[in-house]
Amino acid sequence: MNNPEQSHYLISNYAPPSLEIVRGKGSYLWDSSGNKFLDFTSGIAVSNIGHGHEHWINSINEQVTELVHCSNLFSIPQQVRLAKRLVNKIGPGKMLFCNSGAEANEALIKFARLVGNQNPSLKKYKLIVAENAFHGRTMGALSATSSPKYRDGFEPLLDGFSFAPFNDLSAFEEKIDDQTVGVMVESIQGEGGIRVADDKFLQGLEHICREKGILLMLDEVQAGIGRTGEFLGYQKSGVKPDAIAMAKGLGGGFPIGGVWLSDQWADIFQPGSHGTTFGGSPLACCAGNAVLDVLEQDNLILAAREKGEFLEAELYKLKNQYPSIIKEVRGRGLMLALVMSAPPSELIAQFRQNGMLVVGAAENVVRFLPPLTVSKEELSEAMEKTSISLKSFYQESEK
Ligand code: PLP
Repeated sequence: MNNPEQSHYLISNYAPPSLEIVRGKGSYLWDSSGNKFLDFTSGIAVSNIGHGHEHWINSINEQVTELVHCSNLFSIPQQVRLAKRLVNKIGPGKMLFCNSGAEANEALIKFARLVGNQNPSLKKYKLIVAENAFHGRTMGALSATSSPKYRDGFEPLLDGFSFAPFNDLSAFEEKIDDQTVGVMVESIQGEGGIRVADDKFLQGLEHICREKGILLMLDEVQAGIGRTGEFLGYQKSGVKPDAIAMAKGLGGGFPIGGVWLSDQWADIFQPGSHGTTFGGSPLACCAGNAVLDVLEQDNLILAAREKGEFLEAELYKLKNQYPSIIKEVRGRGLMLALVMSAPPSELIAQFRQNGMLVVGAAENVVRFLPPLTVSKEELSEAMEKTSISLKSFYQESEK
């Protein structure tokens, strides 16, 4: 680590970082020593339009001089515009903005409580969530996250969450009781190791939710904003959820989160029931609109699908080449992963040495999350670097 003051002044809730990153452009990042890295982390699925996109910078610059913040006491044209564009992409409903993925999920949980409390005598408040999910670090979102890795030490957590294995429809159904108000799942579990929800699982959940009169809520924080080759990951399955959380890619690096509620529920939050000082600020929504401009103008959703197919095929070739160390290739679009047979921290270090950044996830997983703007040449460069990194990792593991 280059900066000795890091551990003196920053609380160590992250492992000591190995790089100090100072600049980004397109698919590349530079550290403070001038080393260049091909960035296949995208700030953990945030920089979907790449670093320093010209249109994004120009839009932000213009907005900074016009108005950065004014609070939700006032109507904000950029916010209305972003909400309209998102509703057009998702379906009839309305938006509520916040600042992060955890906050968006927190709002989903509060939404579910409001629905449950419509008839207080029924005492409906429970949510069924998936094992291995990650919904964020705030107390509500953490309570919806099953892994002890995140929960330990923070108990007691919020009451009212039960966990069922991901993709196991009957397990979800069995957990539902008279007090259940809804289910909440990711369409692709990100931190949980790039586990894709089967279309049949999502369709089955929708069917059960409609039959039992409970809510279907989706966390699209990591899989959303074009990354999987759909605007939101669940859209491939064709289900119609009641509520969706978004964040990460939505601002292209500027913090913004959003919640979509279907028309049926869109007016459940009434003045005073929920709020935020910063959420949906003129600048944040300008960033969101600029991201959508780029997604639309450059056809990035289709690009994610096509480039993803190429990258996935290349990763399968490597799996065939190194069957003893690569167990599986998982994911969709440009949300892909190699599942390794052993902890991959040394492999991630190899990548770094070879000038490429990738990010780990649960269960020995190495995630490939390039910007959706990644070029064919950069994808080839990535595969060369991946191949070299795997070769050294394999040779080390054979010693
Ligand atoms: N939900 C999912 C699916 C995530 O992947 C994350 C973050 O990784 C979150 C929620 C939390 O988002 P944030 O870190 O912006 O609070």
